[in-house]
Amino acid sequence: MAHGWLAPCALCGRQSRGFLYCHLLRRDRFPDYSFCSRTCTDLGMALARENNGVIDKTARETQALREARRPFAEALTALGLMEPFHNRTAAEIDQLIEAAVTGYVESMQRQAAMPERSGTPFDDEIPF
Ligand SMILES: [Zn+2]
Repeated sequence: MAHGWLAPCALCGRQSRGFLYCHLLRRDRFPDYSFCSRTCTDLGMALARENNGVIDKTARETQALREARRPFAEALTALGLMEPFHNRTAAEIDQLIEAAVTGYVESMQRQAAMPERSGTPFDDEIPF
C-alpha cells in the first residue's frame, strides 16, 4: 500500500494535498493516511476513530458503489439509454460503475506520481 504524500486520498482517491493523519500519531501501530482536502481529512479521521485507527475501505467502497447507482440511472435516463439497462441486475450495473471509477482513480493515481502538466491547452499527448 502506498504511503506518504504521493498516495492518493485515502477517502476519495483524488490526488492528496498534504493532509495527513495517523491515529493517535502512533505510526508504529496504525497506518498513516493522506487526504486531498480538509473535508476528506475530517471524514477519514472520524472513520479511523470508529474503527481502531483503520479506514475500512471495502465497506465504504461497497456503499459508494450502491449510492452511485442512482446518479448513474439518472444519467442513463437523461441520455435516453435506460431501456437496454432496465432488466440488468444490480451486480451488472455495479460492474459498469466500477469500471469507470477504477479507470478514473487509477488515472488520478498515475498522474499524482508524475509532475504536474502545464495546464495549458494541447499539452496532452496526441492520441493518434
Ligand atoms: Zn479526498
